[in-house]
Amino acid sequence: MEKMKEKFLVIVKPGFFGSRLEIREMLLQEGFEIVSEKTTKFSEKVAKLFYSHLRNKPFFQEVVDYMTSDIVYTIVFKGDIEMARSLVGPTDPCECQPWQIRAKNFGYVDKMRNVLHCSDSVESAEREIALVEYLPNLVAAWFFIKFLETTVSFFYNVKIFVIKKVLKNLLEKIFYI
Ligand code: ADP
Repeated sequence: MEKMKEKFLVIVKPGFFGSRLEIREMLLQEGFEIVSEKTTKFSEKVAKLFYSHLRNKPFFQEVVDYMTSDIVYTIVFKGDIEMARSLVGPTDPCECQPWQIRAKNFGYVDKMRNVLHCSDSVESAEREIALVEYLPNLVAAWFFIKFLETTVSFFYNVKIFVIKKVLKNLLEKIFYI
C-alpha cells in the first residue's frame, strides 16, 4: 500500500515533446496519478547535477548537451516506482519488450534518446524532484527576496534623502543658515 504513495519523476526528453500526451496517457492507464506537470528547459548546471552519477562516463557531456537541447515535459507521478520502471523499460530501447514505453515508435530513438526518463528509486526520485521542481522555485524566491531588498533599500534611501532635505529647509528657515 505504501508503494502506491511513492512519488517519482518522469521527463519526456527533448525531441519527444509532441508525444507527451500519449506517454502521459500510457502511465495514467496503468493507474499512476499525476501530482504536478510542467514544460521546462534544462540548464547546463541542472542537467549536470541531474546526471551526476554518469559524470565519469565518456558520453556524459553528450547526454548533458542532449538534455539541454530543447524543451522537456516533466511529470511528478504517485505510484509504485518499480512498476513504473518496468512499464518504461530498460535504458536501451533495443532491449525493451514490445509493451514497454521505450519500445514504442515515437520517432528516432537510441540508447540516449530513449523517449523518457523515469526515477528508479525513492531516493533518486526525491533528489530529482527537488532538482527539477523545488530548485527553480527556490531560485525564484531568492531573486524575489533580492528584488524586495533592493526596492526597500531604494525607498529607505529616498526617505532618508527627503528627511534630510526637510530638516535642511527647516534649519535654513529657523536659523537662517
Ligand atoms: P536510465 O535512464 O534507464 O535510468 P541511466 O541512469 O543509466 O539510465 O542513464 C541516464 C541516461 O543517460 C539514459 O536514459 C540515456 O539517455 C543516457 N545513457 C545511458 N547510457 C548511455 C550510453 N551508453 N550511451 C549514450 N547515452 C546513454
